[in-house]
Amino acid sequence: MKKITLLGSTGSIGTQTLKVVDRNSDKFAVTGITGNRNIELLENQIRKYKPSKAAIADEALFKSLKNNISDTDTKLYAGTDGLCEVAAYTGADIAVSSIMGIAGLLPTIAAINQGIDIALANKETLVTAGRLITNLCKEKNVKLLPVDSEHSAIFQCLNSDNSKFLKKIILTASGGPFYGKKIIDLKNITPAQALKHPNWSMGRKITIDSATLMNKGLEVIEAKWLFGVEVSDIEVVVHRESIIHSMVQFTDNSVLAQLGLPDMCGPISYALNYPNREKCIVGDELDLAKIASLTFGKPDEETFKCLALAKKAISIGGTMPAFMNGANEAVVEMFLNEEIGFCEIGETIEKAMDIYIPKYEYNLDDVVNADVESRNIVNKLIRG
Ligand code: NAD
Ligand code: MG
Repeated sequence: MKKITLLGSTGSIGTQTLKVVDRNSDKFAVTGITGNRNIELLENQIRKYKPSKAAIADEALFKSLKNNISDTDTKLYAGTDGLCEVAAYTGADIAVSSIMGIAGLLPTIAAINQGIDIALANKETLVTAGRLITNLCKEKNVKLLPVDSEHSAIFQCLNSDNSKFLKKIILTASGGPFYGKKIIDLKNITPAQALKHPNWSMGRKITIDSATLMNKGLEVIEAKWLFGVEVSDIEVVVHRESIIHSMVQFTDNSVLAQLGLPDMCGPISYALNYPNREKCIVGDELDLAKIASLTFGKPDEETFKCLALAKKAISIGGTMPAFMNGANEAVVEMFLNEEIGFCEIGETIEKAMDIYIPKYEYNLDDVVNADVESRNIVNKLIRG
């Protein structure tokens, strides 16, 4: 049995991971789970999977959840320390890092410190602290297995000795719900419109990031750290159908791609079963004749400036990506609360980045401080 601790078990990736666990119940056991506010779902998961430990991030909800599960054997923890306890100390072989945002950073580090392999969905971990995380993984001999579909695709294409011939990564992007639109068309976009992704069903924050193309920007940074490539060797290509999940080009210009229907259970399953594959999946197969055509285009970085801002942040380096990520998390929440418009997401991040002076020699505290500072600056820019 492979023992899994699932950070962010109540979210989109978390619940899809449990689907993969359910269809492989002879292979996987869940030893730890964590949630933020959804105590009903967390309670159901505790009853079904019987983890030894669980944690609730929102400390105000600890008492009532503890009360509700008092007849179970699961030990309950709260707050960031509680998340880290579950990440590190359930005897897990692998931790699925699927908390939303920078809140996933410290629990992921807690797992790495214990030598636990990571199935990484939480891209913000690498965006904010890529250098620190990749160094720590090396030091602790921890595998960082990508769950993000594009990065899983690249990982699958590089899954042999061919990585030394890698020349370029071709990162595909669906283009989101507003592909082809110009700034003038985007002014009055509502959160409900932005939350309708054409191909993927995901958590709210990443869905907005997909609409602004910030998600692709975060993924460029994620790819840089996962595969050790320069940002100039990562090309973003809009591919509306989300069938090719990404590609790699080698020194001889040969290109390998990984294809599949858009379903996160695929990359989740690959990370959990690595280096093997799930033997038999009952479900839809890719029917290329039915899909008939695959299209490709260039992203519009003028209209969707978040992609350009993310590339700028990583080229500036130091704590700038952590700052940009925090600013993005703050403005996305403001957009979802209808405090700002869609176009103000990118505009505000840009203004905030212009004010901030990054640190180039930095540790984890500096990353956390950059995140706090970004939220303060965004707050001032918007609320005065
Ligand atoms: P989600 O919003 O559906 O779920 C997030 C999870 O994190 C929930 O379990 C929630 O309880 C927990 N959480 C939220 N705030 C928290 C906090 N402050 N402290 C502790 N826990 C907190 O998000 P998601 O779509 O599952 O995405 C999770 C991560 O996976 C993100 O980093 C996202 O970029 C990445 N990802 C998601 C998808 C997808 O298809 N959903 C694809 C690729 C990558
Ligand atoms: Mg992705």
